[in-house]
Amino acid sequence: MYKRHIAILGSTGSIGRQTLDVVRRNKELFEIELLTANNSSELLINQALEFDANNVVICNKDKYKEVSDALQDKGIKVFAGMQSVCDLVTSERVDMVVASMVGFSGLAPTIAAIKAGKAIALANKETLVAAGWIIMNLAEKYHAAIIPVDSEHSAIFQCLLGAQGNKIKRIHLTASGGPFRTWKKDEIALATKQQALKHPQWNMGDKITIDSATMMNKGFEVIEAKWLFDCRPEDINVIVHPEAIIHSMIEFDDGAVLAQMGHPDMREPIQFALCFPDRKPLDIGKLDFAGIGNLSFFEPDMEKFPALALAFKAITRGGNIPCAMNAANEAAVAAYLQDRIGFYDISDIVNECMDGVDFVGDPGLEDIFETNDTVYSKAKEIISKVSGGR
Ligand code: MG
Repeated sequence: MYKRHIAILGSTGSIGRQTLDVVRRNKELFEIELLTANNSSELLINQALEFDANNVVICNKDKYKEVSDALQDKGIKVFAGMQSVCDLVTSERVDMVVASMVGFSGLAPTIAAIKAGKAIALANKETLVAAGWIIMNLAEKYHAAIIPVDSEHSAIFQCLLGAQGNKIKRIHLTASGGPFRTWKKDEIALATKQQALKHPQWNMGDKITIDSATMMNKGFEVIEAKWLFDCRPEDINVIVHPEAIIHSMIEFDDGAVLAQMGHPDMREPIQFALCFPDRKPLDIGKLDFAGIGNLSFFEPDMEKFPALALAFKAITRGGNIPCAMNAANEAAVAAYLQDRIGFYDISDIVNECMDGVDFVGDPGLEDIFETNDTVYSKAKEIISKVSGGR
């Protein structure tokens, strides 16, 4: 049987590791064509050996020798630097690219893969936040299928398979609410990163877990949904659902609502994307509805979580503003993870950067890269002031 040849960008991150777990359970279906990592050389080496990868890229060139020395006798080709990632994803041996790098850095390789017409399993939501219309236009032009990996968007994608092409009226995007859902605002203001990193439902990487605590992640997902499913932001209803059993819903003109449910386990949407359009068994337990008992729903609190409101403001203004929001957020979350700024400084810095950036109404890719660089630097300046040199 033909094996699907997979390239995993960011294989040592949370989504990358869970993708490899899906591959490990379905070895007869997949061959690993390419693994890439930013810095985690040791894990990359172990993954390459376990999965007998054909190629690996370590983006940090200082670690090239270490990776190369470990793998060169094993018939695994080793490359270094981001440009190698962009080159190798276009190989005709690659069938599907799992875009699971964190942050804006995923944009260039994702575009390279789209231009080569590859199927994209898209986990890197920041690419759609910063440049959604560019990504979607290129995907159409180069016939590159985009299959969402984000659990909410996978849910909507799966629901849409049952829509028979009928128009949808609204999307209900569920949010677990993060670790601070029941906290008071003055308590959240003093939250440490250890508290913010304790997500109640999902096992994810540090950056997205902080984004979940601020609810910036849900804001990103509103923008992601707008581009993936071509809907207006005002037709996307964010609803807090702490049990995280319903992964999102679509509503039709006649009031009927379709929901997709499952355990909060990223391996489900990952495997769905890797195997699409087939479904394969996945042993992560069955939903026990009687055991769950109740599903609850709440309005999101934009006072306590201003980042969510900022995302609606960004997508309503459009142009390069969502890109500016993303760049400022990346800088601020990194500073929060270094204990340099407080929890609400993140959304304050993002807001200041969004208001301060020169507006570009119809940005091309170069404008997007420039906005990202300019705003990232600006955010770092503000962080230095706020942190008092910490
Ligand atoms: Mg999500």
